[in-house]
Amino acid sequence: MAEIIKINGNSWRIEDGFVRMFLLTGTQTALLVDSGATCPEARQIAESLTDKPVALLNTHSDPDHVSGNGAFGFFMMQYEDEPYYRQTGGQGMMMPLRDGDVLDLGGRPLKVIHIPGHTPGSVALLDENAGVLISGDSVQSDNIFMFGPRRNIHDFINSMEMLKGMKDSFAEVWPSHGSFPVEPDLIDKLIEGARQIIDGKVTGTQTVHRDTPVMLYKFPYAGFFCDL
Ligand SMILES: [Zn+2]
Repeated sequence: MAEIIKINGNSWRIEDGFVRMFLLTGTQTALLVDSGATCPEARQIAESLTDKPVALLNTHSDPDHVSGNGAFGFFMMQYEDEPYYRQTGGQGMMMPLRDGDVLDLGGRPLKVIHIPGHTPGSVALLDENAGVLISGDSVQSDNIFMFGPRRNIHDFINSMEMLKGMKDSFAEVWPSHGSFPVEPDLIDKLIEGARQIIDGKVTGTQTVHRDTPVMLYKFPYAGFFCDL
């Protein structure tokens, strides 16, 4: 059963076990950011919190972010994540997101920022008026998945460098996993950690994640699951 926590007058976080969704409302419409890992009722939950029509946006297509998509007629996603979404049985009509798109909920513009790396089509949302960056899985204090065919740690670093350059625009980061909220300075640390992994300057621990052997590089601020 998901836990609903009000963040402020127009934002909620919906905790579905280890993953987090957000409901954001404006004066005209509402946006559900992701639909959970085991939460087919995500739409009902969102609609119980607002009288505004609720649209759905997925930060990316990993299975722990799309469990409630089927209840929506359409969803927004960066188009490079659609092939994986369809391969894994994803339903519904996709409205493709592009870098720089602005979704206005009514007095609450949200800017879409394409941040490939964790997946090719990962996006963050910048709530400029609130000074909040909604970061999906890419900026978080838990273990960031960097193993498997769709991940690219070099793209990840480039995306983090871009977010680092925008740090004047936000004071808080709202991630999908781990601590909530996190400091923007975590971005700098993740860049440093990812570079150390590439340069072979840190030692990982071989472990198994859901039947897949992986290397875990653990830092004080976060971890990375990488290919062996
Ligand atoms: Zn996730």
